[in-house]
Amino acid sequence: MLKFYFGPMDCGKSTLALQMNYNHGRQGRRGLVLTKHDRSGGPKVTSRIGLGLEAIEVEDDLDLVRLVTAHDRIDYLICDEACFYTVEQIEQLADLVDEHGVDVYAFGLASDFRSVMFPAAQRLFELADEVCRLQVEVLCWCGRPGQLNARVVGGAMARTGEQVVIGDTDAARVRYQVLCRRHHRSGRLGEGSADAGHEPVQTAQ
Ligand SMILES: [Zn+2]
Repeated sequence: MLKFYFGPMDCGKSTLALQMNYNHGRQGRRGLVLTKHDRSGGPKVTSRIGLGLEAIEVEDDLDLVRLVTAHDRIDYLICDEACFYTVEQIEQLADLVDEHGVDVYAFGLASDFRSVMFPAAQRLFELADEVCRLQVEVLCWCGRPGQLNARVVGGAMARTGEQVVIGDTDAARVRYQVLCRRHHRSGRLGEGSADAGHEPVQTAQ
Protein backbone atom coordinates (compact mmCIF):
# COMPACT_ATOMS: atom_id res chain seq x y z
CA MET A 1 0.00 0.00 0.00
CA LEU A 2 1.40 3.37 -1.06
CA LYS A 3 -0.34 6.25 0.67
CA PHE A 4 0.32 9.95 0.22
CA TYR A 5 -0.81 12.48 2.81
CA PHE A 6 -0.55 16.05 1.65
CA GLY A 7 -1.37 19.50 2.94
CA PRO A 8 0.16 22.96 3.40
CA MET A 9 2.88 23.56 5.92
CA ASP A 10 1.78 23.61 9.55
CA CYS A 11 -1.11 21.23 8.96
CA GLY A 12 0.42 18.53 11.14
CA LYS A 13 2.00 16.26 8.54
CA SER A 14 5.16 15.53 10.51
CA THR A 15 3.18 15.02 13.69
CA LEU A 16 1.04 12.43 11.92
CA ALA A 17 4.15 10.81 10.44
CA LEU A 18 5.60 10.39 13.92
CA GLN A 19 2.32 9.10 15.31
CA MET A 20 2.04 6.56 12.52
CA ASN A 21 5.56 5.33 13.17
CA TYR A 22 4.74 4.93 16.84
CA ASN A 23 1.54 3.00 16.13
CA HIS A 24 3.23 0.57 13.74
CA GLY A 25 6.18 0.09 16.05
CA ARG A 26 3.86 -0.84 18.88
CA GLN A 27 2.43 -3.64 16.74
CA GLY A 28 5.90 -5.11 16.44
CA ARG A 29 6.35 -3.94 12.87
CA ARG A 30 9.74 -2.79 11.73
CA GLY A 31 10.12 0.39 9.81
CA LEU A 32 12.44 3.13 8.69
CA VAL A 33 11.80 6.87 8.95
CA LEU A 34 13.07 9.00 6.08
CA THR A 35 13.10 12.74 5.60
CA LYS A 36 14.62 15.52 3.54
CA HIS A 37 15.19 19.16 4.47
CA ASP A 38 13.48 18.83 7.85
CA ARG A 39 12.97 22.08 9.73
CA SER A 40 15.59 21.00 12.26
CA GLY A 41 18.24 21.08 9.51
CA GLY A 42 19.38 17.59 10.49
CA PRO A 43 18.41 14.03 9.64
CA LYS A 44 15.39 14.10 11.88
CA VAL A 45 11.64 14.37 11.63
CA THR A 46 10.51 17.13 13.93
CA SER A 47 7.06 18.53 14.37
CA ARG A 48 6.00 21.97 15.42
CA ILE A 49 4.52 20.65 18.61
CA GLY A 50 7.93 19.46 19.73
CA LEU A 51 8.11 15.77 18.90
CA GLY A 52 11.19 14.50 17.16
CA LEU A 53 12.81 11.34 15.88
CA GLU A 54 16.12 10.42 14.26
CA ALA A 55 15.63 9.75 10.57
CA ILE A 56 17.53 8.89 7.42
CA GLU A 57 18.23 11.90 5.21
CA VAL A 58 17.17 11.18 1.63
CA GLU A 59 19.96 12.49 -0.58
CA ASP A 60 19.21 12.71 -4.31
CA ASP A 61 21.39 9.70 -5.13
CA LEU A 62 20.02 7.42 -2.38
CA ASP A 63 18.50 4.25 -3.84
CA LEU A 64 15.53 3.51 -1.60
CA VAL A 65 15.14 -0.09 -2.78
CA ARG A 66 18.77 -0.76 -1.92
CA LEU A 67 18.40 1.01 1.40
CA VAL A 68 15.46 -1.16 2.43
CA THR A 69 16.75 -4.47 1.11
CA ALA A 70 20.02 -3.95 2.98
CA HIS A 71 18.00 -4.35 6.17
CA ASP A 72 16.92 -7.68 7.59
CA ARG A 73 13.19 -7.11 7.47
CA ILE A 74 11.33 -3.87 6.88
CA ASP A 75 7.55 -3.79 7.05
CA TYR A 76 6.92 -0.12 6.42
CA LEU A 77 8.48 3.21 5.54
CA ILE A 78 7.56 6.63 6.84
CA CYS A 79 8.63 9.15 4.20
CA ASP A 80 8.39 12.69 5.47
CA GLU A 81 8.94 15.67 3.16
CA ALA A 82 8.41 13.33 0.20
CA CYS A 83 7.70 16.32 -2.06
CA PHE A 84 11.46 16.98 -2.08
CA TYR A 85 12.47 13.48 -3.16
CA THR A 86 13.38 12.79 -6.78
CA VAL A 87 10.77 11.33 -9.14
CA GLU A 88 12.98 8.27 -9.44
CA GLN A 89 12.79 7.78 -5.67
CA ILE A 90 8.99 7.86 -5.86
CA GLU A 91 9.21 5.08 -8.46
CA GLN A 92 11.41 3.19 -6.02
CA LEU A 93 8.74 3.56 -3.34
CA ALA A 94 6.21 1.96 -5.68
CA ASP A 95 8.68 -0.85 -6.38
CA LEU A 96 9.07 -1.44 -2.67
CA VAL A 97 5.32 -1.81 -2.31
CA ASP A 98 4.88 -4.05 -5.35
CA GLU A 99 8.04 -6.17 -5.26
CA HIS A 100 8.97 -6.23 -1.60
CA GLY A 101 5.69 -6.05 0.30
CA VAL A 102 6.60 -2.85 2.12
CA ASP A 103 3.90 -0.40 3.19
CA VAL A 104 4.86 3.17 2.35
CA TYR A 105 3.36 6.22 4.05
CA ALA A 106 4.50 9.42 2.35
CA PHE A 107 3.88 12.91 3.68
CA GLY A 108 4.53 16.24 2.04
CA LEU A 109 3.44 19.39 0.36
CA ALA A 110 1.58 19.08 -2.91
CA SER A 111 2.54 22.41 -4.43
CA ASP A 112 5.31 24.95 -4.20
CA PHE A 113 5.13 28.71 -3.48
CA ARG A 114 3.76 29.36 -6.99
CA SER A 115 0.98 26.80 -6.41
CA VAL A 116 2.68 24.52 -8.95
CA MET A 117 3.00 20.87 -8.01
CA PHE A 118 6.35 19.45 -6.96
CA PRO A 119 7.42 16.72 -9.45
CA ALA A 120 7.65 14.11 -6.68
CA ALA A 121 4.20 15.06 -5.36
CA GLN A 122 2.77 14.80 -8.85
CA ARG A 123 4.23 11.32 -9.24
CA LEU A 124 2.76 10.34 -5.87
CA PHE A 125 -0.66 11.52 -7.02
CA GLU A 126 -0.25 9.37 -10.12
CA LEU A 127 1.01 6.22 -8.39
CA ALA A 128 -0.41 6.15 -4.88
CA ASP A 129 -3.10 3.67 -3.91
CA GLU A 130 -4.59 6.36 -1.74
CA VAL A 131 -4.13 10.13 -1.51
CA CYS A 132 -5.39 12.00 1.53
CA ARG A 133 -5.64 15.74 1.98
CA LEU A 134 -4.89 16.35 5.62
CA GLN A 135 -7.45 18.18 7.61
CA VAL A 136 -6.28 21.73 7.54
CA GLU A 137 -5.88 23.23 10.97
CA VAL A 138 -4.06 26.22 9.58
CA LEU A 139 -5.91 29.32 8.51
CA CYS A 140 -5.15 32.23 6.22
CA TRP A 141 -5.01 35.63 7.95
CA CYS A 142 -8.57 36.23 6.65
CA GLY A 143 -9.90 33.16 8.46
CA ARG A 144 -10.43 30.94 5.43
CA PRO A 145 -8.76 27.52 5.35
CA GLY A 146 -5.10 27.79 4.38
CA GLN A 147 -4.41 25.82 1.20
CA LEU A 148 -1.29 27.19 -0.46
CA ASN A 149 2.18 28.17 0.63
CA ALA A 150 3.43 31.64 -0.24
CA ARG A 151 7.12 32.47 -0.27
CA VAL A 152 7.75 35.90 1.21
CA VAL A 153 11.05 37.56 0.30
CA GLY A 154 11.87 40.82 2.00
CA GLY A 155 8.22 41.30 2.96
CA ALA A 156 6.73 40.74 -0.50
CA MET A 157 5.23 37.63 -2.03
CA ALA A 158 7.52 35.97 -4.57
CA ARG A 159 6.12 34.61 -7.84
CA THR A 160 9.33 33.34 -9.37
CA GLY A 161 12.50 31.66 -8.14
CA GLU A 162 13.95 28.27 -7.36
CA GLN A 163 11.38 25.62 -6.47
CA VAL A 164 13.08 24.70 -3.19
CA VAL A 165 14.45 27.41 -0.93
CA ILE A 166 14.58 26.66 2.76
CA GLY A 167 13.40 29.55 4.89
CA ASP A 168 16.26 31.20 6.71
CA THR A 169 15.39 31.18 10.36
CA ASP A 170 18.01 33.78 11.29
CA ALA A 171 17.90 36.50 8.68
CA ALA A 172 14.20 35.86 7.97
CA ARG A 173 14.74 37.18 4.47
CA VAL A 174 12.86 34.23 3.03
CA ARG A 175 9.89 32.89 4.89
CA TYR A 176 6.74 30.99 4.08
CA GLN A 177 3.14 31.85 4.86
CA VAL A 178 0.02 29.79 4.37
CA LEU A 179 -2.74 31.60 2.50
CA CYS A 180 -6.17 30.76 1.18
CA ARG A 181 -6.42 30.40 -2.59
CA ARG A 182 -7.93 33.86 -2.99
CA HIS A 183 -5.11 35.60 -1.19
CA HIS A 184 -2.43 33.41 -2.74
CA ARG A 185 -3.72 34.51 -6.13
CA SER A 186 -4.00 38.18 -5.19
CA GLY A 187 -0.75 38.21 -3.23
CA ARG A 188 -2.23 39.96 -0.21
CA LEU A 189 -0.32 38.95 2.91
CA GLY A 190 -2.56 40.59 5.48
CA GLU A 191 -2.10 43.28 8.09
CA GLY A 192 1.31 43.64 9.62
CA SER A 193 2.91 40.86 7.66
CA ALA A 194 5.38 43.27 6.04
CA ASP A 195 6.98 43.18 9.46
CA ALA A 196 8.71 39.82 9.22
CA GLY A 197 9.60 39.92 12.88
CA HIS A 198 5.94 39.63 13.73
CA GLU A 199 5.39 36.40 11.88
CA PRO A 200 6.72 33.02 12.87
CA VAL A 201 9.57 32.16 10.54
CA GLN A 202 8.77 29.05 8.56
CA THR A 203 10.87 26.45 6.87
CA ALA A 204 9.73 24.89 3.66
CA GLN A 205 7.76 22.25 5.52
ZN1 LIG B 1 -7.24 34.60 2.83
